[in-house]
Amino acid sequence: MAFWILQLAMSFRTTDRMLTSGLWWIAILWLGMFGGAVGSFLTVVWDRLGTGEGFVVPRSRCPECDHLIRWYHNVPVVGWLLLGGRCYDCGSRIPVKHPLIELAFALLFILAGMATPWL
Ligand SMILES: [Zn+2]
Repeated sequence: MAFWILQLAMSFRTTDRMLTSGLWWIAILWLGMFGGAVGSFLTVVWDRLGTGEGFVVPRSRCPECDHLIRWYHNVPVVGWLLLGGRCYDCGSRIPVKHPLIELAFALLFILAGMATPWL
């Protein structure tokens, strides 16, 4: 899977001009962050579907100890890595599906962006 994604990414026409362009990298970074946020939102939808809870409100909290998740721990992929996959307050495990789905959507958005004529 990772190899297939890498091969697909390499098949896009990246030129030296693109790779040395700061704007190109900013666009790629922005697409990755936006994709990660979309993936993060979709895991919330997955977890809350059928529970009667809203998808935006209430804010994210630990299902074990009910503590609100701090905004800097809620950054897609990075937050999970910083916490070592555990809740900051109670130490219970945060399912690995969260960073994996966020990462998958980040890559998907980057590849979709690279497939457009603008990048
Ligand atoms: Zn907790």
